[in-house]
Formats: sequence, structure tokens, C-alpha cells
Amino acid sequence: MSAVEHPLGISFEFFPPTTDAGKEKLLGVRDALAAREPRFFSVTYGAGGSTQARTTQTVNTMRQSGINTAPHISCVGSDKGALRELLAQYRETDINSLVALRGDLPSGMGGTGELRYANELVEFIREETGDHFEIAVAAYPESHPQAPSFERDLENFARKARAGANLAITQYFFNPDAYFHFVERARKLGVEVPIIPGIMPITNYTKLARFSDACGADIPRWMRKQLEAYGDDSESIQAFGEEVITRLCERLLDGGAPGLHFYTLNQAQASLKVLDNLRA
Ligand code: FAD
Repeated sequence: MSAVEHPLGISFEFFPPTTDAGKEKLLGVRDALAAREPRFFSVTYGAGGSTQARTTQTVNTMRQSGINTAPHISCVGSDKGALRELLAQYRETDINSLVALRGDLPSGMGGTGELRYANELVEFIREETGDHFEIAVAAYPESHPQAPSFERDLENFARKARAGANLAITQYFFNPDAYFHFVERARKLGVEVPIIPGIMPITNYTKLARFSDACGADIPRWMRKQLEAYGDDSESIQAFGEEVITRLCERLLDGGAPGLHFYTLNQAQASLKVLDNLRA
């Protein structure tokens, strides 16, 4: 069964653009990706509320395509009052899906806030709004970078499911075995929610290496070596990326992954190419 035919299907993540040109470009990206009938779009949120207005604006822009759009919401650096207000605003405007995160505060920015971890945020959303929202949470097949151990991180992930999350989206990874191992271990802990792999298309090696170091995603040595060898040859990097990511998605879907969530970085082309290859 292809990801597109699967009940959970595909989804695409965006960040709120900062410039007029970025906003304009996103409209074309939105329409190109909406044509693939994703199950949902999602829009990231800057911890501490730093992108709140832009996230809301972008969510509204994305929803105009007719695709259900989930704002990300994070608790670090926020208090319950501000979160309550934001939840009320989302309810009033008929938003019914959220991606609930702890978030990361930029260094030097304020205290941690009233809710320390994402499981506490999920509990808070359920206490405040019952079953109104479908809630997705983050999962880390290769462990969250601050986790003391894989086991502890897995237990913390299970807390989020028990707190009332409906589904999980993983951090991106390039080794499908990391995903299968994580899912198997989560099931043994009694976690039943769908765990959707997060897919990062490869278009730029320097950016990918920087992101991956920051979020603890492993770029296997064979991929690093090959990508480094391409240097500035962006055409070869993209062709290699397309092939590697298509193969990764095939293995994930063949192994039972319940959908694919693409980190688009506000670009359509790389995700579309992978989807076309998967259909073929
Ligand atoms: P948590 O689940 O709270 O985990 C954070 C750390 O604390 C982990 O090491 C965990 O093991 C530990 N922990 C968790 N619960 C407990 C507990 N009860 N007791 C003790 N330790 C605990 N960031 C943004 O700023 N904006 C976004 O829009 C955004 N979107 C994302 C979307 C996805 C799909 C993913 C995978 C990540 C996203 N992030 C985003 C990044 C995320 O905010 C960071 O990875 C952050 O460091 C952790 O958030 P979390 O919700 O996974 O935290």
C-alpha cells in the first residue's frame, strides 16, 4: 500500500516565513503540495511564543487550500495563561489539530515556564479542552539529544502517549532500523498510537549537517562521504538525496510505517520528487 493510499497518508510541515517574498513563494508551494491531498499540513512555532503571530498567520494561509492545518505549540518559556489564551483562539477559529512540543529556548532567553515537558503540555491541553484537538507529539528513534539514555527517552515518550496524544511524528533519521526498533520498543511499553516517520529531503549538505548536529540525527558515514565528495555540485547532491530518501521511504512503508511526514523547509520540489518515485 503506498503512503498516499494509506489512511494516515502523507503530511507536510512548514515554517512561518519572515519576508514578503517568502510568504509569496509559500503560496505556490502550498498549492503544489495540496494537490497531493495530504492528510494535514503543520506549521512550526518558535519556543517562548516568538513566532506566535506568524505561525497563526501561516496556518490561516495554509488552511485556505482546504487542507487541515495543525499549528505546533510549545510550552517552554510560556505560562499557563498564555497557553490557555492560544488554545481558546485556536478553538474559536476551528483549528482542531495540534503538534504539542516542549520546544527549545534560544540560549539566554528567559526561564523554562510553568510546564517543563511535552507530556505536561499534552495533559494541560486535555484538561483545558477535552477531546477537541487531535494531538501529535514528537518521537526520537535515535534518542532526544538531552536524554540520559534511550530507555529513559522511550519512557518519556510513552508518558506523552498516556497523557492523551493521538499520534506521534518522529525526528528525521536516515537509518530505517532505528525507526523499526523504536516502534517495536514503544509497542512493548504499551504505546499504541501511530508513529509516523519524519522525512527530511536532502537538498543542501551544509544545512543538513548543521541541523543534524543540533537535533541529534545521525547522517551515516557512507552518506556523509558521498555528500562531501559532491562539494558545490548541488545537482548531484539533489539527485543522490532523491534516491536515498526514496529508498528510505520505500523501506519504511514496506515495513509497516503508517504514513510519511515531510519536513519541507518550505520547498515543494524535493518532497514531490520522492512521492512521484514512490508512486512509480
Ligand atoms: P519532551 O518530550 O518534553 O522531551 C524533551 C527531553 O526531556 C527529552 O530528553 C526527554 O527524554 C526528557 N523528558 C520528557 N519528559 C520528561 C519528564 N516528564 N521527566 C524528565 N524528563 C523528561 N521545536 C520548536 O521549537 N518548534 C517547533 O515547531 C518544533 N516542531 C517539531 C516537530 C517535530 C515533529 C519534532 C520531532 C520536533 C520539533 N521541534 C520543534 C523540536 C523540539 O521542540 C525539540 O526537539 C525539543 O528539544 C524537545 O521537544 P519535545 O516535545 O520532544 O520534548
